[in-house]
Amino acid sequence: MFMGLSQSPPPARARRRRPAAAPGAVQLALPLEGLGSGEQLGSGEQLDLGDRPPLPAPELPLDALPFRYDRGVHLHEAELWLDPHSRRPVAYVSHGHSDHCLPHGHALATPATAAFYRLRTRRTRVTEVPFYRPHRMKEWSIELFPAGHILGASQALVIGPDGRRLVYTGDFKLRPAPCQEPAEVRECDVLVMECTFGHPQYRFPDLTEVEGQLRHFVDRSFERDVIPVVCGYVLGKGQEALSLLTRAGYQVAVHESIYRVAKVYEAQGVDLGHYELLSAASVPALRGKVVLCPPHLKKTVTAPLGPCRTVMLSGWAIDPRAKYRYGVDEMIGLSDHADFSELLEYVARARPRIVYTVHGDDAFAGYLRRQGVEAHHLLV
Ligand SMILES: [Zn+2]
Repeated sequence: MFMGLSQSPPPARARRRRPAAAPGAVQLALPLEGLGSGEQLGSGEQLDLGDRPPLPAPELPLDALPFRYDRGVHLHEAELWLDPHSRRPVAYVSHGHSDHCLPHGHALATPATAAFYRLRTRRTRVTEVPFYRPHRMKEWSIELFPAGHILGASQALVIGPDGRRLVYTGDFKLRPAPCQEPAEVRECDVLVMECTFGHPQYRFPDLTEVEGQLRHFVDRSFERDVIPVVCGYVLGKGQEALSLLTRAGYQVAVHESIYRVAKVYEAQGVDLGHYELLSAASVPALRGKVVLCPPHLKKTVTAPLGPCRTVMLSGWAIDPRAKYRYGVDEMIGLSDHADFSELLEYVARARPRIVYTVHGDDAFAGYLRRQGVEAHHLLV
């Protein structure tokens, strides 16, 4: 039995009912009456489910969910939390971004994520679980495989005592990226997936297009005799940008915060090319170089530079107001998350019996339901 989920599929037209609230249990947004905002989505894209018949709609009383959800997935029989947003005794940490790296009692993570986790939390109680090496916990097995999000980011395949498979994606993207392991998709029964960009308007350019846009921005800045300043987050986007820039042959001066994480990437075997540390002493010699810094330090970094031009790397670039929100001259749509097409592709390839979405809103779960996939959105 897999966390109480009925072993035999319920009847196709099972009666749905809203579960009664259980004290201290889950914060669930089970849209059991109507399809919610997802119903308004318009996209000509169809989910190719092959020759599989329409999925049954299982009855989902609260006590029959395959896990509890309370700011993180709780596999209570395994005494394990997946990516909890609160401190927990034992937690799997999917990747090194700060909202996932809380100082838990004991953490499970890939070696690269463990390095970021120790850096952020100063905690040393971490079990390193390399990709593809199943780890046993009681009657349970957890295997980590690449998520394509940032270096070391993993998804978790959890197999219960009855052999039923749950995949938790964490943050992921399927598009190739310059300096991390490419994502994989595993078939599963229960899929818990991140869907930050779960609306059809979110279609991100491929890597070649992003490289072209970045080169265009830098070259045009040089033509105008201003310093190009590229803004990307400290972990992940910063190193992707650095890799793209050095590969294109530019000299890059990197803010210390991104520089320090770049050294972790290199210690894990990633080649980021040649670059230098941005310092007060290096400012007079920045002409002809690209400056790379995190967005929250943009003002401090650009103040002593003189004439410069700024670009922010983000999936939100598709929003025409985004550049005003970030206070930059330009936006380029480089994201470390899956776009709408990738989310659909993931579900089609994983072939889950039921999907739970986290992050974003209910729209993507609603879209899946219209395609005949049983799907529900979980509130963080
Ligand atoms: Zn992340």
